[in-house]
Amino acid sequence: MRKQIAIDGPAGAGKSTVARAVAQKLGYVYIDTGAMYRAMALYFLRKGIDTQDCAAIEAVCDGADITISHEDGEQQVFLNGENVSKSIRTQEVSQAASVVSAVPKVRERMLVLQRRLAQTKDVVMDGRDIGTCVLPDAPCKIFLTARVSERARRRFEEYAAKGEAADLATIEREIAERDERDRTRKISPLRQAQDAVCVDTSDMTIAQVIERVLAIAGGSAWK
Ligand code: C5P
Repeated sequence: MRKQIAIDGPAGAGKSTVARAVAQKLGYVYIDTGAMYRAMALYFLRKGIDTQDCAAIEAVCDGADITISHEDGEQQVFLNGENVSKSIRTQEVSQAASVVSAVPKVRERMLVLQRRLAQTKDVVMDGRDIGTCVLPDAPCKIFLTARVSERARRRFEEYAAKGEAADLATIEREIAERDERDRTRKISPLRQAQDAVCVDTSDMTIAQVIERVLAIAGGSAWK
């Protein structure tokens, strides 16, 4: 059986930073499923499709071919052959991704792709529904969370580090909206799997969270 670590949680809880570091430490492949939903969202935005229009989205959905590869351990995401790893990191794409990810056909396609990826490699996969839906049998499941004000502050600093203008209050409002949409959608909502360990990262450093996740993984069934 493949080794699988599922990390779920709301936006800005530190999932990707932690998942990437844990994967590197253990020699597993890191799969950022949010990037796949973002690439889908970018596809619809570029086509000028109203992201609230579920029927229009389902009608053109098959035209988006999403693939991923890894370069020096960094996941690259491709939309119809174009590397969109950078273009998907905008606030517009973040919001659109959380809207289109509620569309059944979008989720069905991503689910098939994500399960296929986890069949061939040992993975650390992060997202919203990994422990509950994509990899329900993963022996190690972690739910990372943090106070919304802290998650907004971290996002704000990420934008600042990239030299991008951002407003803390707007980021906090958008994160809260996104979480609410992710938690209340009908299919695969964001929630902690029954057998997941919850880690509140609000008052922890990244190094402490990585250490904690490695300790949890170390106690998992495959060890
Ligand atoms: O993780 P990230 O913030 O990049 O995800 C962007 C959006 O993609 C989330 O707000 C969520 O709506 C959606 N998503 C999802 N299921 C996943 C991963 C992400 O619905 N497994």
